[in-house]
Amino acid sequence: MVIVGGGPGGYVAAIRSAQLGQKVVLVEKDQLGGTCLNYGCIPTKALVHSAAVLESIKTAKHFGFGVGQVDIDFDRVMSRKDEVVRRLVSGIQGLMDHNGIRVIEGEAVVGDEASLKVKNRKIDGTIHYKNLIIATGASPFILPIEGADLCEVITSKEALELEDIPESMTIIGGGIIGMEIAFIYNALGCEVSVVEYLPRILSCLDSDVSDVVRESAIEKGIHIYDGAKANSIRKTMNETMVTEIIVDEASYLISSEKVLMAVGRKSNLAALDLQALGVTLNKKASGIEVNEYMETSVKNVYAIGDITDKMQLAHVASHQGIVASEHIAGYEHPMKYDVVPSAIFTVPEVGMVGMSEACAQRQNIEVTIAKFPMMACGKAVAMNEVEGFVKLIVDASTKEILGGAIVGAHSSDLIAVLTQLVYDKVMVADAINVIYAHPTLGEGIHEALMIADERGIHFG
Ligand code: FAD
Repeated sequence: MVIVGGGPGGYVAAIRSAQLGQKVVLVEKDQLGGTCLNYGCIPTKALVHSAAVLESIKTAKHFGFGVGQVDIDFDRVMSRKDEVVRRLVSGIQGLMDHNGIRVIEGEAVVGDEASLKVKNRKIDGTIHYKNLIIATGASPFILPIEGADLCEVITSKEALELEDIPESMTIIGGGIIGMEIAFIYNALGCEVSVVEYLPRILSCLDSDVSDVVRESAIEKGIHIYDGAKANSIRKTMNETMVTEIIVDEASYLISSEKVLMAVGRKSNLAALDLQALGVTLNKKASGIEVNEYMETSVKNVYAIGDITDKMQLAHVASHQGIVASEHIAGYEHPMKYDVVPSAIFTVPEVGMVGMSEACAQRQNIEVTIAKFPMMACGKAVAMNEVEGFVKLIVDASTKEILGGAIVGAHSSDLIAVLTQLVYDKVMVADAINVIYAHPTLGEGIHEALMIADERGIHFG
């Protein structure tokens, strides 16, 4: 078995395949851990945590602690982030060794039938395979506008590797990556402007959920320009970047030191010669076409992760890797996408899973919405983190919990509870019987369940 790409799709597939008795070779041209560990999930979350520590210090007075002038040692912020990444990447190397997986550093190129060529400084060889898993990931999409190629125009990768905190940054794209980075640099004192083409930021969320993040961003001084089209980027004589945006047909200029392009990611379709492999693309030609077992149009070739453009999330890539490995070993555990949680590390955090209210409306499903505000949760008040709510989407006739969103402190952890409820197709009346510890943020979920059953205790 050969796996190309050592991200959360590829390395997890390698481990699962080795567990199932395959002889596995993993080819990675850059770093084990892929985008997620090196340039994505982990470095952003390390920086999100640093920003949260700074925020705690800034608000310490409220809790009775006087703090003097706070110095930001940005070198240390970044070196701690690098230490976190290094530690996790070396952990993956250890897992590869432990599972007897051969990792070859180098770029894989399609060879003859059932073989790949791998080249690096030391090796120029051919690997023959019985099964191939393509896990070559995705890269930032760059808007084809004037000035997009200027060196001050950066992607999320460079934004996580800056040497100094820019005085100002214009972020083109108010999606998940753009908003997470907006909150990080805002906390560090950078003046951040977000330009979003759609009518609102985080449009993947119900509007009441994204509104909480929008209001928080504005309160913190992040400038949000939604319904705004980024038209061009120019550089002035004194090295200032000027982004022209169009709002309601009028042109406006935003000046900043850096411009971050965060308008989505496109699958690395050129990473391997898919035509030579005979692998076909999906209808939009945005990813490799796969079935529910991650098989491509070629029998012994599988594709997993961002390259399939199903859902660009690390946990989806890993799960697809397990599905593919198990299918190769003869087990049929199909991949399903209807109960995939998302965690968004803005301030406050957002967690969502299953059906949204907007999705229920689009599909004409009659639902009951139950909402519990975190300001009525004892633990949230004790923490002084009262923004947000728990929102449940419940089938109006059967009372099955179809989905939910949590916006507020630690939502990214709390969403696991809702994920289990939605996955298990639990009815509200049954879920209510579970006792939640007091005082915890999880009680917000219980209260929302009670509201869904018209017997809210602390609200509704
Ligand atoms: P990747 O992780 O991209 O790995 C692909 C690997 O293939 C790379 O290492 C590449 O070097 C290698 N490769 C490509 N071509 C070849 C070749 N020819 N030969 C050898 N090797 C090759 N997701 C979440 O779930 N949660 C988050 O909080 C989150 N935050 C993110 C933040 C940012 C800033 C970014 C950019 C992404 C974030 N993501 C997050 C998305 C997540 O990183 C991806 O969904 C995930 O990494 C996809 O995994 P993958 O294995 O498909 O591909």
